[in-house]
Amino acid sequence: MKILVINCGSSSVKYQLIDMSNEDLLAQGLVERVGIDGSILTQKVKGRDKYIVQVPMKDHKEAISHALNALVDKTNGVIKSMDEISAVGHRVVHGGEKYSQSVLVNDEVMDYLEECVKLAPLHNRPNIIGIEACKALMPRIPMAVVFDTAFHGTMPKRAYLYPLPYELYEKHGIRKYGFHGTSHKYVSQKVAQVMGKNIEDINIISCHIGNGASITAIKGGKSIDTSMGFTPLDGVAMGTRSGSIDPAIIMYLVKELGYTIDEVSEILNKKSGVLGITSISSDLRDIKEAAYNNENEIAKLALDIFSYKIKTQIGAYAAALGGVDVIVFTAGIGENSFETRIDILEGLEYMGVHLNKERNKVMGEIALISTDDSKVKVYVIPTNEELMIAKETRDLLH
Ligand code: ADP
Repeated sequence: MKILVINCGSSSVKYQLIDMSNEDLLAQGLVERVGIDGSILTQKVKGRDKYIVQVPMKDHKEAISHALNALVDKTNGVIKSMDEISAVGHRVVHGGEKYSQSVLVNDEVMDYLEECVKLAPLHNRPNIIGIEACKALMPRIPMAVVFDTAFHGTMPKRAYLYPLPYELYEKHGIRKYGFHGTSHKYVSQKVAQVMGKNIEDINIISCHIGNGASITAIKGGKSIDTSMGFTPLDGVAMGTRSGSIDPAIIMYLVKELGYTIDEVSEILNKKSGVLGITSISSDLRDIKEAAYNNENEIAKLALDIFSYKIKTQIGAYAAALGGVDVIVFTAGIGENSFETRIDILEGLEYMGVHLNKERNKVMGEIALISTDDSKVKVYVIPTNEELMIAKETRDLLH
């Protein structure tokens, strides 16, 4: 069974074709600059040169159509015809309160996705456009939606309710939803498997640290709390996002300093985090370069703040879980930045966390990075959201 996984952004389409008989990645592609000048499709197949298509693609439908053509292309493709695709799994960011699981696409689901657009306009709108495009291009192929929020549907009320007037929750759905759920689910299942443990028996703190970052407390395989909230702006500091701040700062910016609410949103989402502190870059590699090679003090401070926020979140979730068995690092920074992992875990020895500095030098591969006698095990587990989406899609078909 071959499953096509689609992830539509505002001007991009990422896709992967996965053979579920052996979980083999047959092809992966990225269409960039959809709807803008210079549209480009790049498809990678193991052992072959990149296949690049540069033609105007005015919308997501055209982009997906080119992706399908690339997959069936006589010389550069990996399948003979589209009939070989058994199903399509779509990544959708926000599933609201209704869907704490993946679902097969039908009219009711599409109507509900529309309702959820207000909760995540930047993400859900392109996701819906992608589904509609695939429905038009592949009308007979079953499709599933896999939500970023779904894994956190198991959080108890005490974790997801804000101490706000209750009617804001009841009438307007204002609560914590949490994000990166597909990634947290994947790495938590994978780490249990690698450890040879039953996931039911362990407490996991999963640290997804990329451009966006979130930390999740997982008990018995279920999310019981997570650092992102009503939106992906909450929680730890990120590349350009502030994470949690005193909400009164927003009123102060508007009332005392004269910012408009759109400007505040722009500051918190796009001009904060390590970019905001340093004015250098949102990419942690640039910040590390400035801090380590150029002795830039503000870059050092940004790294310090970045790691400190994650460290204190880990402490909070150790309390929420009543003890932790394993800490997992994943995503761009979590998988690759061994210096950041050291900074985060230093000082947690009292909790039984002991890093093995040699093992910790690993980048982007599955590895145990704690010492043999560390009470809390620490792992690097590369995330694979696409494979998780494909698995969920397959399971729904069955
Ligand atoms: P996204 O949230 O966009 O999916 P990724 O998980 O791909 O992000 O992570 C991208 C980030 O990973 C980059 O911004 C970069 O800061 C970071 N990164 C990748 N490799 C390293 C490294 N060796 N050291 C520090 N940061 C790294």
